Amino acid sequence: MTFSAHAVAGGALALAMPHHPALAFVAGAASHFALDATPHWNYHPRSASIDPEGAGVGKPVVYDRDLAIDLSVIAFDGVLGLVLAFIFFATPATWFAVMCGAVGGIAPDALHLLYSRWPHEPIALINKLHCRMQWDIFEHNTIAGIFSQIAIITLVFVIAKMI
Ligand SMILES: [Zn+2]
Repeated sequence: MTFSAHAVAGGALALAMPHHPALAFVAGAASHFALDATPHWNYHPRSASIDPEGAGVGKPVVYDRDLAIDLSVIAFDGVLGLVLAFIFFATPATWFAVMCGAVGGIAPDALHLLYSRWPHEPIALINKLHCRMQWDIFEHNTIAGIFSQIAIITLVFVIAKMI
């Protein structure tokens, strides 16, 4: 699942605990694994240097065009998710918890990056479980995949506003 969807879901969950930012972070991180276990679309790294299942795990980083594209996409996706969570859910009283929830929603995927650079326990076990729980769909249909992520973000927004 994209960072955007994870961040919006984490930010929405924080609305249930607006005075407990640390708990919002944990709830956001927990939601990450729950969402990864549902049918979803995800983009995959081009660069072996940051692919947690690729041949570049633990090897020196190759600074090439693929890495630049991956880092650009990841940065855009992450910032978009944080901005959407803020716009959708933050108020002067809740913004910090919402941001903690959104960052918590993204944080588990940072462990993929850590594993690709440092493939040792306990990160290796967490990475293995995280990769196994993925339920990728639309693997070869990027357009359908992107629309599925927009649908998830919209659904989370609507549910959060109804509660
Ligand atoms: Zn994940």
